[in-house]
Amino acid sequence: MEGIVDSHTHVSLLPYEGLENMALAGVKKIIGCSIFFGAKHAETLFDHFHQMLTLSVKNAAQNGIRLFVAVGIHPMGTPVDWPRVIDALPDYLKMSDVIGLGEIGLHEGSQREQNVLREQLKVAKEYGVPVIIHTPPRDRMEITNKTIEIAAAVGMEPGKVIIDHADLDIIDLIEDFGAIPGLTIRQEGLTPHLLLNHLERFQRGVLNSDYSNLKPNDPLSVPKAVRYLELNGAPPEIIARIARYNAEEVFGI
Ligand SMILES: [Zn+2]
Repeated sequence: MEGIVDSHTHVSLLPYEGLENMALAGVKKIIGCSIFFGAKHAETLFDHFHQMLTLSVKNAAQNGIRLFVAVGIHPMGTPVDWPRVIDALPDYLKMSDVIGLGEIGLHEGSQREQNVLREQLKVAKEYGVPVIIHTPPRDRMEITNKTIEIAAAVGMEPGKVIIDHADLDIIDLIEDFGAIPGLTIRQEGLTPHLLLNHLERFQRGVLNSDYSNLKPNDPLSVPKAVRYLELNGAPPEIIARIARYNAEEVFGI
């Protein structure tokens, strides 16, 4: 499988060797998503975006990987002065390496989280960019329904909405809305085995590692999943779509 895309990594938390190993395993493009756990100030996020757009882009390029960046306010790190970040988003969206907003979304589903998500989706709609949306480990159906309700109310084009960490529990909600399922491969969620057994249901999705330091993670989970699917006779055209072409299409990369 040529030209693997990892559609969701927290690249500022990825060691240099992680990038090197991803390159050796055939990853050619990465979407780097924003997260700064516990951010209290807008400046914290501006520095975080700047670090991805400079150091991370350079480190990826040195390994032959093209890094594209998604900026935004993650629900686990929402600054007190978050409206200042919203106001700055359009300037980031004009930068050539920035492909959209992410990781955004609801974690606990509070009114504040809903407001932050809604304001970010309004920016995404205005600028016609895709969004990468988080789903939490708990209350998944309820939170996913609420997320979809907000995206629909804002008028987001469903084909530009990636609802991430999809699993069998929420895949039908995602499909009914017409959003793109983000397929995060990890041991306590969507495993390569589960993916293989339900490949038809996940074939519109985009594979990713969601690499971060928030929980045990593997930067090689995407190439490992591709290898597992290949060795177990999955149709090559579906593997190519979820590991590369679906992401290239939705992000325009
Ligand atoms: Zn993430």
